[in-house]
Amino acid sequence: MPIPTELVGSLPRPMKLQEAYAAHDDGKITFEQLQSEQDAAAKDSIERLEQTGETYVTDGEQRESSFATYPITDTLAGTGLADNLAGDGQFFAIFDDGHHRQLPRLTGGPFRYKTFASEFVEKNKAIASKPVKQAVIAPSMLMLLYPLEGEIEGYSREQFLSDLCDEVEKDIRQAFAAGAVRVSVDFTEGRLANKNDSRNPWTNKDMLQEFIDLNNRVLDRFSPEERKNIGIHTCPGGDCDSVHSKDVPYEKLLTKMFQLNAGYFLIQCASEDDKENVYRLVGENLREDANGVKQVAFMGVINPLTPEVETAEQVKNDLVLAAKYIPVEQLGATDDCGFSPFSRDEKPKHGSPDFARDVAMQKIAARIEGAKLASQELGV
Ligand SMILES: [Zn+2]
Repeated sequence: MPIPTELVGSLPRPMKLQEAYAAHDDGKITFEQLQSEQDAAAKDSIERLEQTGETYVTDGEQRESSFATYPITDTLAGTGLADNLAGDGQFFAIFDDGHHRQLPRLTGGPFRYKTFASEFVEKNKAIASKPVKQAVIAPSMLMLLYPLEGEIEGYSREQFLSDLCDEVEKDIRQAFAAGAVRVSVDFTEGRLANKNDSRNPWTNKDMLQEFIDLNNRVLDRFSPEERKNIGIHTCPGGDCDSVHSKDVPYEKLLTKMFQLNAGYFLIQCASEDDKENVYRLVGENLREDANGVKQVAFMGVINPLTPEVETAEQVKNDLVLAAKYIPVEQLGATDDCGFSPFSRDEKPKHGSPDFARDVAMQKIAARIEGAKLASQELGV
């Protein structure tokens, strides 16, 4: 079988759509008007992805406030925030360029999603002629909605985690039921868990194992057959062309991450200084039998944070080298991250989000072509 490829999920939102989000926050347009801009951008994303030859298509998350907050708020500024949440939660991340992203804060129970990803899948299925994938958020990210210390009166941490796991399970099951053939779970907080950033207390609490155990509580509710098509995405962040945890030694994550009983992983690698070491770590830790499923490692061969387009030849060389360490039947190709995980992202190094969309399509085409060349060279 040729080396499979898969995108993470997001694409830059066109400037027109970003302005529509802002206009909705300002009360100048209704949610329905915002949705019609989202629908137009989603249709454009799907059609352009299909032209690149992408195996599974997405709407580029055009309808989502962000990869992490789509279940709980309509916009990043907090318009349409779900019940029992306030805007002033923990920093999710402080990025290397100094900007940060903040999560809402849970104020009481019960915790419930207001939007499930299946809503997007249904709309995308009606547009796409190729199979549709959907990215969803991990429970390990949303557990950070609960205050780091202490308990919320009348809503214990354990009750919250139990409700959260139920919502995430529902999110994944409903996405499949709506017609998604692949569902990947975003786990960017995995590497960040060892950041030890004094400005961001949760990164000082050695939470990686807790994250993995919580995510497995959800994954273990699915059969091996289902888990073949449930993935995990890891990266050091990707927002406004900046990262949050690339300085955290990758082995801290890669020696533990494959404990997750997922069928496949979308792993940032193209932007690493020592890619060969990452291939070796993945090869050493990837499991042949994760409770009944053989894990597949999709290695990042494209850097979505830079405007320079990788060549198919570069992609091929990376994959051929990766195959020295990772069995080729367990090797795939992906991008290091989504191209714009947050809805407000002006893509500064690219000059504009509209140009960044064009660049993203060229990069995706290079990944697909490079994977074909590598498959030929490796005889698969
Ligand atoms: Zn990512």
